[in-house]
Amino acid sequence: MNPGELLSILTAKVASTERMPTGIPLITQDDVNTALGRIQDKTASLFLRVKYAQQWNFMQALDISMWMRVVDLWSDHNWPYPKDKIGKEFRHQCSRLAIIENIGTNICFKCGGVGQRVVTTDDLKSSCKGNELVIGQVIKCPACRGTGHKPPSDRSRARMLEMPRTRWTEEWSQRYREIQNLVDRVEAIGLGGIKKRLSA
Ligand SMILES: [Zn+2]
Repeated sequence: MNPGELLSILTAKVASTERMPTGIPLITQDDVNTALGRIQDKTASLFLRVKYAQQWNFMQALDISMWMRVVDLWSDHNWPYPKDKIGKEFRHQCSRLAIIENIGTNICFKCGGVGQRVVTTDDLKSSCKGNELVIGQVIKCPACRGTGHKPPSDRSRARMLEMPRTRWTEEWSQRYREIQNLVDRVEAIGLGGIKKRLSA
């Protein structure tokens, strides 16, 4: 069982006295909650609660905790704070967007996560020669390349953070990747921690 599966037990209704047919005791919700509580990195613990256990009441605490980590990252790298963003919680918004992108399903808007869609007149207009499409034909979704998932584009990130797209791409998109890496690291710390606790 991977840590994600272990955590999903939190949301399952498992009686604490139940045993597997093999006699191996099941890990209960209480066990997982206790393990989460013992993870030393509080941001990581909060992150796992929200992402894997759907404990949305911890979202506000996670939001603030991650923001503080992003503030540290920011000063470690000496990134400037954009003058036109003073008083607008730009760091906080970058942090929140990175959390939401990580937690979110990023389901493709164009195909609804199916990975396929039916050709429309718009596709005919944009299709190039040698790529003969017919209305009503089912094709692999071009937007997500058939995966059903599509993270937000830099264009939509720029729009959400209210920054001109070229400025976002030139100055901030790479820094934002670093923020995403921080969120990924926090998640990995949490998953490593819970695996250790639950297997002990
Ligand atoms: Zn799609």
